[in-house]
Amino acid sequence: MSGILVVGSVALDSVKTTAGKSVEALGGSATYFSLSASYFADVALVGVVGEDFPREHKRALERRGVDLDGLKTVKGKTFRWSGKYGKDASNAETLATHLNVFKEFKPVLSDAQRRIPVVFLANIDPELQSEVLAQMKGPKLVACDTMNYWIESKPAAIKKLLSKVDIFFSNDQEAMRLTGAPNGLQAAEVLADWGPSVVVIKKGEHGALMKVGSKFYVYPAYPLARIKDPTGAGDTFAGGFLGYLASTGVHDDVAHLKRAMAYGTTMASFNVQDFSTKNIEALERDLIDERFHEFADGLQIPRAESLAKSRRAVPA
Ligand code: AMP
Repeated sequence: MSGILVVGSVALDSVKTTAGKSVEALGGSATYFSLSASYFADVALVGVVGEDFPREHKRALERRGVDLDGLKTVKGKTFRWSGKYGKDASNAETLATHLNVFKEFKPVLSDAQRRIPVVFLANIDPELQSEVLAQMKGPKLVACDTMNYWIESKPAAIKKLLSKVDIFFSNDQEAMRLTGAPNGLQAAEVLADWGPSVVVIKKGEHGALMKVGSKFYVYPAYPLARIKDPTGAGDTFAGGFLGYLASTGVHDDVAHLKRAMAYGTTMASFNVQDFSTKNIEALERDLIDERFHEFADGLQIPRAESLAKSRRAVPA
């Protein structure tokens, strides 16, 4: 399988949603991404946890074959995030962010890690994302994500990073915040001007759009009437998208990018059906492909040419 290197948060999340709550459960941007991408590609994770990080959480990643050589355990507490969601599940209200061991984290990549062809800079301090990217040796594809916490505290560092990135993932609120644009489409235009050739704007239950060159491609979400926990949907989406793209070895073909959007959507839909990472720890590729095909087939709209012809045939 082809390889992806991911740097991002590995966390203990406490989350409240309209369906219930979870306390100090496995979370973090790099965690969700790795689990999701592991169904398509080999994943090497770079991050840090404290001595309090439960062994069983590491095992959940190992069971999916995620390479944890780059996950350091240091003295101190693991990154913690808590948030809640109201009826609008597409936007989390952050209650607390404790960077803990991430405050001092300075990763040094091994030679093998530097040569991995695809890099995902998952949501974490943009300066840390840049440090990791600077160590890579000629990556073929670089993608990144961020969130409000960093948009508010380090917007200049994000803009600088984006000039070196091929694909940028963002949710619509964060993209508007970062660019000052009044809607997701305009935000995508501004972001593309800053560097990335592909911009993906996610809109929760309302789907996602992708800007490639001058074109926009718009997708619904996979229809789920009930969800339990939207945490990590964005990172799981990025994992399906990049995992699929990495597995093809072709990174700039529109047909592959469209399939990547559908795999991202599919993986995110599994994730939100249960709390924390429960639903993406033990999927089967057949199950993923079945939902992917159902989703992709549902997007086909038959051409209407014959109807147009028969209308013209009616005498005045
Ligand atoms: P998502 O719902 O895809 O935006 O990602 C949620 C995940 O991001 C949670 O598991 C959190 O642990 C993690 N997270 C929340 N805030 C931050 C932050 N400021 N930096 C890095 N990771 C974060």
